[in-house]
Amino acid sequence: MERLSEDRELRARKLWEEVLGHLKERITAQAFETWFSETRAVTVSDDRLIIEVPNEFYIDWLEEHYSKVVREALRSAGITNLKLIYRPAPKEEREDERGFIAVKKPSTRLQARYTFDNFVVGKSNEFAYSAARAVAHSPSGEYNPLFIYGGVGLGKTHLLQAIGNYCLKKHKKLKVHYVPAETFMNEMIRAIQKRSMVSFKLKYRQLDVLLIDDIQFLRDKEMLQEEIFHTFNSLYDAGKQIVMTSDRPPKEIPSIEERLVSRFQWGLVVDIKPPDLETRMAILRKKCEEEGIHLNDEIIHFIAQKVRKNIRELEGCLVRIAAFHSLTKRPITLQVAEEILRDMIKESRGLEVTDIIEAVSQAFNIPAREIKGKRRKKEIVEARQAAMYLMRHMLGMSLKSIGYSLGGRDHSTVIHSIEKVEKLVEDGEDIVEKIEKAREILKSL
Ligand code: ADP
Ligand code: MG
Repeated sequence: MERLSEDRELRARKLWEEVLGHLKERITAQAFETWFSETRAVTVSDDRLIIEVPNEFYIDWLEEHYSKVVREALRSAGITNLKLIYRPAPKEEREDERGFIAVKKPSTRLQARYTFDNFVVGKSNEFAYSAARAVAHSPSGEYNPLFIYGGVGLGKTHLLQAIGNYCLKKHKKLKVHYVPAETFMNEMIRAIQKRSMVSFKLKYRQLDVLLIDDIQFLRDKEMLQEEIFHTFNSLYDAGKQIVMTSDRPPKEIPSIEERLVSRFQWGLVVDIKPPDLETRMAILRKKCEEEGIHLNDEIIHFIAQKVRKNIRELEGCLVRIAAFHSLTKRPITLQVAEEILRDMIKESRGLEVTDIIEAVSQAFNIPAREIKGKRRKKEIVEARQAAMYLMRHMLGMSLKSIGYSLGGRDHSTVIHSIEKVEKLVEDGEDIVEKIEKAREILKSL
């Protein structure tokens, strides 16, 4: 009996991990962190997958705002016959020993698994890594604030939290707190509603080290910018350390006040680039070691060559291989690995700009030449923006080359378009289905 329930739990967790992987591609990192990072699969039966969430509030929120994209993620994970049931976690069990949320002290929001020790350093990230170490070693020293930026899945959150974990260990008295910008905003809104702004302000202004993740979320949010501005000044003036991450440099965050941009640049701004082949292989080896997976160099090389832009995806490949192995007990050969990863790898390999335009053309039913052309008809613009979005997310292309590929559009048009689509996707608008269809088409190429 017990064995069976363990198996079910394991299966549930594997399934949910897969669903979360798909979700990550559809919603912003902040939304993911806020609403899904503390979910946990409990068990699975023939027709139900049970997911625990921190409390009732989450259930309402997830059902109201995320049911559509969750459904799509389930579908993408090939789960069509299971009904998803959320339930609140029993109070004491929330911080369980498997380290699922592994919060050291609840108030820091740090996850213990992000450390400097398990961060693999290569050319692409050594600058950011060294700066992060320096800050962790002596907070409020030379580099304040530290601003780390780079593409999706390249280790920003990892470094940010590693700073926090290191600070906690070395400087026990320091008050360290990690918060995604979106969570900060949600807390602020709740504080306004509950008339508890004073304690909200206090909470943040008494910190020694404030780590804000995904600060690009500030765009277009004046009230949030205002609050961050004051928090920033108050901490900075008191000689406290601030570290921020963003998916782009301060100057490129659209509609953000100049006074904030300038503050973000007062200290040190560093970037993380996509890792080179050797670093990708080193990361895979490290993860295998951590997970107790044995893969020979040929397979490591195979995966590292195929997945180029995103370390989270590299991890996803390993998770899939490990799941396959534990479920089938088949040894992992190169051939088996290729088979398992076939559809995952398609996304990041060999795809070309023209494939994306072609897929969008089919999914949106708009001729490719119109997508590349100049006409401003609503449906055409929508397809064009979706193409930009997919180029950014699937190919990791720079804004400049996306603009160039679509008939010489400037960089701000491209940012604006991508963000518009991101917002629509996040809100679960109709466009999601068409984008999904385009992805399907791309996968089948
Ligand atoms: P970002 O915040 O930039 O989107 P994350 O920090 O969430 O990316 O990284 C994605 C995943 O890849 C995480 O699980 C992280 O631990 C892992 N990762 C990223 N960079 C490295 C690295 N250099 N060494 C080891 N793991 C890494
Ligand atoms: Mg992140």
